[in-house]
Amino acid sequence: MTKHNVFLLSLGCSKNTVDSERLMAQAEASGIRFTESADEADTIIINTCGFIADAKEESISETLAAVGRKTEGRVSRIYVMGCLPELYRRELKEELPEVDAFFGTRELPEILAALGAEFNEGLYDRRSMLTPAHYSYLKIAEGCNRTCSFCSIPIIRGRYKSQPPEQLLREAGLLREKGVKELNLIAQDISLYGYDLAGKSLLNDLLLRLSDIGFDWLRLLYAYPVNFPLEVIRTMRERENVCNYLDLPLQHCNDRILKSMNRGIDRKGTERLIGSIRDLNPEIRLRTTMIVGYPGETRAEFEELLEFVETVQFDRLGCFAYCHEEHAPAYALDDNVSPEEKEERVAELMELQESIAAGKNRVFEGRVVKVLIDSIEGDIAIGRTEYDAPEVDNECLLETGGFDIQPGMFCTAAIDESSAYELQGRILQTLH
Ligand code: SF4
Repeated sequence: MTKHNVFLLSLGCSKNTVDSERLMAQAEASGIRFTESADEADTIIINTCGFIADAKEESISETLAAVGRKTEGRVSRIYVMGCLPELYRRELKEELPEVDAFFGTRELPEILAALGAEFNEGLYDRRSMLTPAHYSYLKIAEGCNRTCSFCSIPIIRGRYKSQPPEQLLREAGLLREKGVKELNLIAQDISLYGYDLAGKSLLNDLLLRLSDIGFDWLRLLYAYPVNFPLEVIRTMRERENVCNYLDLPLQHCNDRILKSMNRGIDRKGTERLIGSIRDLNPEIRLRTTMIVGYPGETRAEFEELLEFVETVQFDRLGCFAYCHEEHAPAYALDDNVSPEEKEERVAELMELQESIAAGKNRVFEGRVVKVLIDSIEGDIAIGRTEYDAPEVDNECLLETGGFDIQPGMFCTAAIDESSAYELQGRILQTLH
């Protein structure tokens, strides 16, 4: 059978990136070649996102661009996979007949067969990397058992399913062999890891065993505030290679809104958790995500959120305007906060966070920090500290000062200046 040249466009979140990497490794084992650009390919795969309207639009426009290439005879096949077909498979089939087939988020064998490749269970822990070689993601579970009212992911990704620890350790070991230094643990919700396997949290056990593999940095992303295993915070403090960093999306703080969002925690519970985490590890940097403009959110409730953020002083914070998603439970509510008002609230909250972030970064001036370099631009090396996750957090801009530094290398750097989202300084010494 002719072996095709395939271009895979992976959209959406890091969980999609892992799915794309797993597909590529399996297909390559069957002799399929993946190209850097669509121009070199006869087949295009688009791994789509269906979380919110903007992401859906991007997925559709990339699909239409591929259809354009097919109509012009530049590619012969188009496959669309991932979250969008999970929500709109029938509609997509009707509206995009030029697409050869649609696959959901759990149809790896099926899309491999369409490519003329074979699914090999024994290769499930293999990944062909789409991230820079020095960092990667480890998806420790699939799906979600929570029922947050604004979210359609449980419908898209199904019930929570922890990946067996042994499989994850093999997968991580292979990534380490490839030279990965920073491993970011992800799932829709890492707090529930292991409950479906052992009736209790296995996150700390997994973290300790991953820490023994010898990565330089292990990072925890997407923790849910309920059932969060505090023992991992102790491990974070005790293990040098577990970053003093936690991503803990909270979405809001107001009791009425948290109840309507069906988050299973109230403001007091949230503050208690944050207090316990900081008591256990004063070194920790907390990242969170907030949603503003949720149905019925009053000015007073939004101001309570501002006061909460001012009080808690998160190290990193992202904020989204509520998106009225037709597959999410909250779609039944009246989306009565205007788009303009939503955008104003996002801006107001991020303005507050910018002043907090500036204060948090000022403490680094005059200090020496360990930095992992992601890229080089001229004589400036751009990297991150252990307190910054890839693609979402702060950057360090460092004068290379004649040091021979490459992406993927660690160095120590003196920080001279700072702003809300950047540290500026110079390299003092290169490490490994
Ligand atoms: S935890 Fe809530 S927001 Fe996150 S994926 Fe699950 S339902 Fe969605």
